Amino acid sequence: MKIRVLGCSGGIGGKANLTTSLLVDEDILIDCGTGVGELSLEALMAIDHVFLTHSHLDHLAMLPMLIDTVADLRSRPITLYASEDTLRILRAHLFNWLIWPDFTAIPDRLHPLLRMQPVKVGETVHLGERAISPVPALHSVPSQGYALRGRQGTLAFSGDTTVCDEQVAALNAIEDLHYLLIEAAFPNAHQDLAHAARHLSPSMLHRVLDRLNGSPEIFVTHFKPGHADLLAREVLAYDGRLRPHLHLLGNGQTFDL
Ligand SMILES: [Zn+2]
Ligand SMILES: [Zn+2]
Repeated sequence: MKIRVLGCSGGIGGKANLTTSLLVDEDILIDCGTGVGELSLEALMAIDHVFLTHSHLDHLAMLPMLIDTVADLRSRPITLYASEDTLRILRAHLFNWLIWPDFTAIPDRLHPLLRMQPVKVGETVHLGERAISPVPALHSVPSQGYALRGRQGTLAFSGDTTVCDEQVAALNAIEDLHYLLIEAAFPNAHQDLAHAARHLSPSMLHRVLDRLNGSPEIFVTHFKPGHADLLAREVLAYDGRLRPHLHLLGNGQTFDL
């Protein structure tokens, strides 16, 4: 399993700031932020599965246009996996014929261009040798992270979350956790905003890291562009047990599992 970061910023602004998406091999996306817009038409046509962490635009902005772009070029539907809550939000507020057509009914409901498949914590989607399982998260809207298991180990992605005891427990239950991609969105001076928006600040992230067992390589994501340098300094000021394993996530970065 090969995972490539297409976008990992908390906002836009040039090639360095593309919002969240991970490409797994050639056919799976985890979130569908603006980073997906960098893929070629050929690469877009190869996407069969999209897993969403939650319904915020920075994680799904390219999804409507992805489906529309490849619709008449493919013979099989794209399957969209998310929690039942997130799918309900998308049906009501995005694929509602007003913001965008309902591609689950095009050309008709029996042969749609888009299939929606609920997946919740405790379930696993097996796609060939890849196994993808939701992990709990705590955000301002229903949210879940994902654990991606390949032949050689597991990469977990926190999704957007604040401190979430259930997520820490789920991460600690993964025996072969090689990589953890986890967010930090607001600098420490904006801790109140981090709490209100249900994100992590660097100091909150540090407390989460101190509760992890094992020694996964940690990659921090979702910096707000206007605070990226400050966030990087605050994240890297961590001096706990996992300090040697702490890195910043970057666009184009790849992971092999
Ligand atoms: Zn969010
Ligand atoms: Zn986000």
